[in-house]
Amino acid sequence: MALLEVKNLSKTYDNVTTALQDISLSVEEGEFVSVIGPSGAGKSTLLRSINRLVDASQGTILFDGQDITRVKGKELRRVRTKTGMIFQHYNLVNRLSVIENVLHGRLGYKSALSGSVGYYTEGEKEQAFVILSKLGLTEQAYKRCDELSGGQKQRVGIARALMQEPRLILCDEPIASLDPGSSKVIMDYLREINKTMKITCLVNLHQVEVAVRYSERIIGITGGTVVYDGPAGELSERM
Ligand code: ADP
Ligand code: ADP
Repeated sequence: MALLEVKNLSKTYDNVTTALQDISLSVEEGEFVSVIGPSGAGKSTLLRSINRLVDASQGTILFDGQDITRVKGKELRRVRTKTGMIFQHYNLVNRLSVIENVLHGRLGYKSALSGSVGYYTEGEKEQAFVILSKLGLTEQAYKRCDELSGGQKQRVGIARALMQEPRLILCDEPIASLDPGSSKVIMDYLREINKTMKITCLVNLHQVEVAVRYSERIIGITGGTVVYDGPAGELSERM
C-alpha cells in the first residue's frame, strides 16, 4: 500500500482560480519525490492540500490507507504531525530562540496525542538537542531565529518538522530563497534524512537540475495537471 495516495484531486479558490485539476498520484514509503513546474502550476496547493492547510474542492487524499480529505479536530492534528511541512519563508517565530522553535514542533505532536500543551519534558529537550546537532545547529540553540542566516533558518524548519516524528515531509520550495551554497546544504540534509531516518519526502522545486540531481522520481505539474511522472533520468533526456 502506498503511504500517500491522491485521487482525482481538484482545488478551485473562491470559485474562480482552478489551482489543481483532477490530479492523481501516489508516493511509496521511503521515496524522495520532487514536484516541479512553473510558478502558479499548483505545486504549493498540492502540498498544502495534503497537510490540510487548504481544503480540497473534489477528490480524495489517502494517507497510510486513511481518508484524510475531511478529517477534523484531534484526528486532523494527528495527520498534521505525521506530515511535517517546510516552507520557502521558513515560517519560524522570529523572536523566539532556535530551541523554542524546535520544541514548538513537539507541541503539535503532544496536542495530537493527549490534547495537553504548554510544557516540555527534559527528555523532549534532549531529543530536540539531538536533532539540532544532526543539523549542525548546536551552537545556535539559544540564538533568536532573526539572528540566523537563511540556510540556518531552514535547518531550524527541518528540525521543527522532525520533532513531530513525521512519516512524510512536505517541502514547499525549501531552497527558493537561498544562495546555491546553502541550497546544497539543505538538499543534502533532506536526502540524508530520507535515507537514514526512512522519512518519505515530497519536495516542490522550480529548478529542474536540482530535482534531477536529488530525486529518483519527478512529478511535473503545469496548469494544475500532472504532465510527467517518472524517473528523473528520463526527464533530463527529454530536455
Ligand atoms: P505554485 O506553488 O506552483 O506556484 P500555487 O499552488 O501557489 O502554485 O498556485 C496555483 C494557482 O492558485 C495560482 O494561480 C495562484 O495564484 C492561485 N492561488 C494560490 N493560493 C491561492 C489563494 N489562497 N487564493 C486564491 N488563489 C490562490
Ligand atoms: P510561501 O512562499 O511562503 O509558501 P506564498 O507567498 O506562495 O507563500 O503565498 C502566501 C499566501 O498567499 C498563501 O497562503 C497562499 O495560499 C496565498 N496566495 C497565493 N497566491 C494567491 C492568490 N493569487 N490570491 C490569493 N492568495 C494567494
